Formats: sequence, structure tokens, C-alpha cells
Amino acid sequence: MKLALPLTALALAVAPLAAQPAQPGKAWSLEQARPILEKTQTIRLAPDLGHLSAGERAALARLIEVGGIFQDIYEDQRHRSAPQVRAALERAGGARVARPEDAARLTLYRLFQGPIATTLDNRREPFVVVEPAPPGKNVYPWGLTRAELDAYLAAHPRQRGELTHLRSVVRRADAATLRGDIAALRRHPVLDALHPGLRARLEAMARRPSAATLYGLPYSIAYADRMVRAHGLLNEAADLVEASDEEFAGYLRNRARDLLSDDYESGDAAWVTGHFRNLNAQIGAYETYDDELLGVRAFHSVSLLAARTEETASLRRGMQGLQAVEDALPYERHKRIREDIPVGVYDVIADFGQSRGGNTASILPNEALHARRYGRTILLRANIMRSPEIFGGTSTAWRAVVAPRHADQLTADSTFHRTLWHEVGHYLGVDRTSDGRDLDAALGANGNLLEEMKADLVSLFAGQELRRRGYFTDESLRSHYASGINRTLQNVRPRRDQPYQTMQLMQFNWFLDKGVLRYDRETRRLGIDYDRYHRAVTDLLREVLALQDRGDEAAADAFITRWSRWDEELHGRIAAAMRAEQRYRYRLFTYAALDGFGPPR
Ligand SMILES: [Zn+2]
Repeated sequence: MKLALPLTALALAVAPLAAQPAQPGKAWSLEQARPILEKTQTIRLAPDLGHLSAGERAALARLIEVGGIFQDIYEDQRHRSAPQVRAALERAGGARVARPEDAARLTLYRLFQGPIATTLDNRREPFVVVEPAPPGKNVYPWGLTRAELDAYLAAHPRQRGELTHLRSVVRRADAATLRGDIAALRRHPVLDALHPGLRARLEAMARRPSAATLYGLPYSIAYADRMVRAHGLLNEAADLVEASDEEFAGYLRNRARDLLSDDYESGDAAWVTGHFRNLNAQIGAYETYDDELLGVRAFHSVSLLAARTEETASLRRGMQGLQAVEDALPYERHKRIREDIPVGVYDVIADFGQSRGGNTASILPNEALHARRYGRTILLRANIMRSPEIFGGTSTAWRAVVAPRHADQLTADSTFHRTLWHEVGHYLGVDRTSDGRDLDAALGANGNLLEEMKADLVSLFAGQELRRRGYFTDESLRSHYASGINRTLQNVRPRRDQPYQTMQLMQFNWFLDKGVLRYDRETRRLGIDYDRYHRAVTDLLREVLALQDRGDEAAADAFITRWSRWDEELHGRIAAAMRAEQRYRYRLFTYAALDGFGPPR
């Protein structure tokens, strides 16, 4: 799971600048690109890397190469024409004297990591001459429909595992496709050895090829040449850091093998339980947000991180005694929790593929079995959460809707601590229903919503205890609370299928109901009563934990409906005030570490 910055991810229903309608079959003109580019904030990440050893520096160069490979694969996963489009745009738009429209299209490509733009009114539209991307993008046969896939799965239940695997693509068994995949296995005997029986099966299918037959092909073979190259680079990086950071070297070797076997268990175990020195890296395919057909396939990313060692150490000290927070939560079935949650504070050196953008924090891995066995690592991305440019926009919107006495109470640092304790919150509280069922299975689509709301509320609930221990001062606790309010503000009415925004709206409505928030219809400003805060959070958290404990989907649904109402005279006005202050809609990240690695990508 990752936490994204609110302003980048919002669905924007109201567009002050209407984009000109696209002409099908034509690339966007400069005039069509301009409204988006004018709403794009470029943020350059350039953390100080002066403390890295020579070996770490050399290893970093190899890891950046792996990042470039995964960037290519990610774009390829999202659109089948991405590689050709990018090559053409880099030739035209990257030329020394580029025409402005070519330069604009290249910037759009980088912003959207492919040839499909999200317009100001939240539509997806190609900005060069390519087909729109189907829901399954390029990890399913192009244009495969849900109906065909469901019918195929119903008729071939034994293939369900391979066709829904987290790290595989779905293919049609036509002669040319099979020939290509068999050739990849022959070209790379290591892949053949790690996937026993696969080549024989493909060869058998090739004797009777049929496009009506589907098969699942592991990522290692779908992207064989690039994966083998990444494996080599990761091993080189491991050799380079071996002397200064043996555990990190060991993790890189494990992950290199994982990329060829499509089984991440060894790398995840080494990653989550490892103690690394100056570097950390998220490498592989983890998040499934891009798969809009089934929501099961992970997309590739590399995130290169520089550890803030001292800050991490003081944070871990502050987190001691977590059991006391768990025991204070308003529910009965308390559990033993691990005291050494692997949390770290980092500066982003560079992000590639799926992890690129405004991620503030990640908690991985997602696979329940691995998370149960080894725990999950929490990566806090300090130079994003504390970026003055990013915080500037957040702060302006805040000031536009709260009473003047609250204007300075929201700080960049409070976002950091709220996010940290949100991630810790995922470790605490109910993790199965009282009759032992998995929460997602019991609660369906509401499972994720309630889990995220629980994490938000645990973060705020812990505030009082953290003040008692001296982790917070009176002032920083108030900022923690202000950040909790800020998180609930919506600049557009959420759709019910948006779990994060919906649960934020629910908290907002709860705070109104309990008198924590008061909306002054004269001044059109929100006042905050901090004295009622802890009590209101505790009461809502009790409701959420009880719903998780019961695991009753209908009861959860009724609760969500009851608390997610939207009143144009109140919510609508606050949203409009926020939108009026919103200078940027998009953020384009660039990285100092990539200077000297060819065109920025
Ligand atoms: Zn979360």
C-alpha cells in the first residue's frame, strides 16, 4: 500500500479551464497541451548524498540502471505503443532545437508516464496518435474484455491460478506469441530451469495454436531479456556494497533471484527484517492499482532511498511501548504486537515506474502470507512530505477554509507524524473478524475503507499517549490534530467507489456532529474545538473496530452511507474555496541523481 499526496490524486469534477476537444487521430496541439502544463508543478528532488561510501555510490549507479529498465517495463505494461511513442517523442522533443509542441508532448509523456493524459476534467485521452488504453492495459491480450475473461475462467477453472497471478501476464495462444515465449526460455536457460515444465507446456500448445486459448506467463519470461539484465546489475550492485553493507548486499542478491523466479519471498524476508546502512530500495512489482480489468496484477517500480539514520533511530525510540497504545484502543480482543516495527525515514533519491509521483509513505509487502511471516516495512519519504513547494499548496488551501486562529496550526512536520502513525495504525487493532475471517473477505469492498479509516484514527488516538511520553509537545499535538482535520477536507465530492476520500468525508461529518468542527455560515470558515477531539476520535474508532470485529458487510455499508452525506451548502462551499486556491493539479518529479544518465525519464 502506498499513501499518495492528496492534491495529486483527487478526481477533479470541476474544471475552470476547459480543454479544447481533441480531434481523433491527431496529436495534441500546443494549445491543447498548455492548460495541463500550466497546472503542472515541477519538483526536483536532490537529497544530499555526500555521506555515501564509494561502494554505495557505485552501487547506486547500477540501481539507477535497474530503475531505467523498470521504467521501460512499467510504460510497456500500461500501453503497447509506449516504447515507440517515447522513442519518437525523445527524438523530436529532446532535440537541441525542438519545436514547442514536440517539447510539450514529451513533457506530457513524462508527466503521465505514457501516451494517455488525464485531462483537467478527469477524462483519459491520448495526446498522440495511439489507441486508448483498455482496462487490462498491456498485461492482458490487448482489448480483452471482462466478459470474455470471466467466461474463459468459468470454463477453465484449473487455469485460474496462472490467469490471476500477481506477477504474470495473460496471453493468447496463437502461433507467433507462443514462438516468442518459447524462444525466450531457450535464450535464457536460467529461466527455463526456474520454471520447470513451462517450456514443455508451451511447446505442446504450439502444436495446436489457438487464439481462443489463454495462458498466464510469468513476468520473468514476458520481460525476459530485461529481467536477466536487471538480475546481473543487482548482483553487481551487491558486490559493490558488500564491504560496507553486507545485509543490503544480501537483500539485493535475493531480490535479483526473485525477479527470475517470480516468487518474492526470499527478497521480502531479507528486506523487511534487514538492518541496512545508508541505502534502501523498493525493487519489483507490488501494487495492483493499474490493473483495471481484474485488479490483481502488479506493476513494476524501483524506489531508491537514502536513509536518515539519526531520525530513524529517534523515531524508533519514540515508538517503544506500542503495546500500551494497543491495549488502550477501544475494543476488547487486544493482541500482542511486535515492538520492533521496521520503520525508516528516507529521502527519495529517485523513483521509477509505478512508485514515481507524490508517494508520502509505503507499507510493504501486500501479500498477506509474507506480511504475517516477516511483518511489513514502513518507508517514510521525508523529502516529499516536508517539501516546501508541496506543503505551500496544502497550507494555502487550509488557510482558505479554517478560521484565522487555526491558520498556522498545520505544519509540514505534522503531516509526517500523522502519516507515520497511520502506518503504525495498520499494525494495531482488529486484524480478523471475531469468528476468524479475513477482513477483506468478510467486508468486501468496504474492508479497505474501514482499514484505512482505522489507521487514520489510531494515528489521532495515539496523540494523547504520545503527549504524555513527551514525543509531542502541546503545540505539536495540536498540529497533529490539525493535520487530522486537514486530511478530511475534500475539494470535490467523493464518489462512493473512492475509499480514501469517502472515509475522510465520514470523519469530517463525525467531527461536525460531535462539535469538534463548527462551520460558520457567515464567515464560511471552520472552527476547531480541540478539547472535544480525543473523545470524538475514540468514539469513532470504537465504531470502526466493532464493524471490523463483526465482519458484517451490510452493517458496514449502512454505517458508511449514514456518515458520508454531502451538503452543497456546506461541503460544496468548502470544496469550492479550496479549489479556488489550488494553483496546481499535477506534479512532475525530477531527480538530481539522474543527471548524467541520459534524458530525464
Ligand atoms: Zn493506510
